[in-house]
Amino acid sequence: MSGKLIDGTAIGKEIRLEIKDRVSNLLDNGCKPGLAVVLVGDNQASRTYVKNKQKSSVEVGMKSELIELPSTVSEEELLGHISKLNKDNSINGILVQLPLPKHIDENKVISAIDPEKDVDVFHPVNVGKMIIGQQAFLSCTPYGIIKLLERTGTEIKGKHAVIVGRSNIVGKPMGQLLLQRDATVTYCHSKTENLASYTQDADILIVAIGKTKFIDAEHIKEGAVVIDVGMNRDENGKLCGDVDFTSVKEKAAAITPVPGGVGPMTITMLLKNTLHSAEKAYEKGNCS
Ligand code: NDP
Repeated sequence: MSGKLIDGTAIGKEIRLEIKDRVSNLLDNGCKPGLAVVLVGDNQASRTYVKNKQKSSVEVGMKSELIELPSTVSEEELLGHISKLNKDNSINGILVQLPLPKHIDENKVISAIDPEKDVDVFHPVNVGKMIIGQQAFLSCTPYGIIKLLERTGTEIKGKHAVIVGRSNIVGKPMGQLLLQRDATVTYCHSKTENLASYTQDADILIVAIGKTKFIDAEHIKEGAVVIDVGMNRDENGKLCGDVDFTSVKEKAAAITPVPGGVGPMTITMLLKNTLHSAEKAYEKGNCS
């Protein structure tokens, strides 16, 4: 059997068009959603991510603001910028690109962002609300994966979802979102013994570990839906995932490629959260 490709580029595009329509409604009413990205230092990978986020926000009609700070910036100065953005009615989403230089306390910086503008969903208030199922932003990568599953008609209710990886930005929130949609969830991590015994039982397998082609056909149940979050470079410098796509696609019912799977969805959901924040601000008369 050869698995169906889950095309994150196409699904992301479809959702961005919907976002663009809603942005255009806000624009007609004098409200331009704004996303501010704070970039500290000159890490090349961070710079590329930031560029993509800026470009995508402009494409859907949003205002994009970049605050670039040198790696020597003090924590106090950085917090000052965040405080200003919190008060700025033309900004609905604030994103601080991580990692930050070692002399800056990341937790302190994240906690300083107004939770209503925390579109990256790192603030403890938003993480807590998400986990107890209250209305809040949803973590971008897991939210994007939920959309991939929904838009490909993948049944979640009652299914066994196995998550490999338990990071705060992918694995942990992923399991919670699936649990809220009535999946039975198993978390695996680096200390899990006999990993394959769990992955082989997964109806939905989500892999987010950061290890090139770590999961192969031996780990998969025939007919599983496989979501590969990994973004790694292989021995030739080519972008690849945590899943050995070539062997696994023969056994899976559906699978995401890397690139073109989860990646485009993460940015799409960042835009969706920013739109959501702008719509809320507009309702309160706070969007300019
Ligand atoms: P982290 O490094 O924060 O977490 C990795 C997780 O994988 C940890 O929980 C770790 O376990 C687990 N792990 C590591 N090795 C193994 C193993 N051999 N067996 C089982 N579990 C293992 O990574 P992230 O969650 O931030 O990212 C994971 C991958 O996803 C990376 O490649 C990253 O680039 C990519 N990514 C892609 C995104 C996208 O938009 N496409 C967005 C975010 C991330 P333990 O907790 O025990 O250490």
